[in-house]
Amino acid sequence: MRKITILGATGSVGQNTIDLIARDRDAYDVVALTGGANTKQLADDAIRLGADLAVTAYDDRLDDLRAALSGSGVEAAAGQAAIKEAAARPADWVMSAIVGSAGLAPGIEALKQGATLALANKETLVCAGQLVLETAQQHDARLLPVDSEHSAVFQALVGEDMAAVERIIITASGGAFRDWPISDLANATVEQASSHPNWDMGQRITIDSASMFNKALELIETKEFFGIDPTKIEVLVHPESIVHSLVGFNDGAVMAHLGAPDMRHAIGYALHWPDRRELPVNRLDLAKLGQLRFQEPDEARYPALRLAREVMERGGLSGAVFNAAKERALDLFIDRRIRFLDMADAVAAVLDRFESESHLLDATLTLDNVHQTDHLARQWVDDAVLQRAG
Ligand code: NAD
Ligand code: MG
Repeated sequence: MRKITILGATGSVGQNTIDLIARDRDAYDVVALTGGANTKQLADDAIRLGADLAVTAYDDRLDDLRAALSGSGVEAAAGQAAIKEAAARPADWVMSAIVGSAGLAPGIEALKQGATLALANKETLVCAGQLVLETAQQHDARLLPVDSEHSAVFQALVGEDMAAVERIIITASGGAFRDWPISDLANATVEQASSHPNWDMGQRITIDSASMFNKALELIETKEFFGIDPTKIEVLVHPESIVHSLVGFNDGAVMAHLGAPDMRHAIGYALHWPDRRELPVNRLDLAKLGQLRFQEPDEARYPALRLAREVMERGGLSGAVFNAAKERALDLFIDRRIRFLDMADAVAAVLDRFESESHLLDATLTLDNVHQTDHLARQWVDDAVLQRAG
């Protein structure tokens, strides 16, 4: 039986992963599930799947989790250290589906014990790409992409030579506001930004899709994962979310990956890799769809894309700054303390401030330095916002 752990089990990717595991219960030995405040869901799933351990991120939820697990034999724990400890328990396959930079340290623990890390948490590569890839190499561990675009590229590259790759084209739905007049974006509400036309995902990534911060993170993720020059990565708006990404080769061929917008495809591919197994996703009926549309992204509408290009160019710790500033700006937007377009302005201001103290960006890429940078970038978002308010 394969030993598996799911980090972020109660979230959107986590629940889709559990859906696949639960269909083939006898094939898996579940080591640990981790979650957040939703201790009921976490406990129910841990009991149902016979996990050894369930961990909530929050110390003050430990009593709830213990109560929900009582008599089940599933061990309970709480806090970030306990999540790291769960990730370090021997497993063959670990799903990294925590949202945000909180996913980085547990992911590194999983790599250190030699597990295959299925990476939904794109922030891991954005914040510390080089460090993560080196850790995997040192411990003979493997990283597999779960983000749908990166899974698509990964699949299009099977059997290919990276030297023949001319470009990688990452598709983007355009999010909730694709067809809005730009002048209306300033007044976009949290509720409006939280509904995605094609994908059913967690709230944070859904809002990041509306602002294209999600695509911006994915540009950086592409550079890190595939080791490709940033000038060879393109973004293409594709409203139907059927073509998940494309790879262009030096002989003019373009390989596209198509499928229904259902994360269980990319999760299942990473779960069964290098095999393909039957998965419970809708089959495409292209004749019924009739047409697929493509258009160039409008950088005036999506400043996040320009910022991501600057970050890829800058390197060092700028990815950690970009991600943390984005996370904090998103918190402030969700709390209704700043407006939709203020998020990109705040991130740009924080990147500029770090650039003016460039030694901070050029510090060695260690987990400690990433944490410190992350912390400072969040503070500087608050400074930037308060300064403007005052
Ligand atoms: P979600 O918000 O639905 O779930 C997040 C999970 O992380 C939950 O289990 C939550 O309890 C846990 N969590 C949140 N904060 C935490 C913290 N500080 N410490 C520990 N655990 C914490 O998110 P999601 O949409 O499932 O996305 C998870 C990751 O996958 C993100 O990095 C996202 O960008 C990526 N991703 C998601 C999708 C999708 O379809 N949802 C697609 C591609 C990539
Ligand atoms: Mg994606």
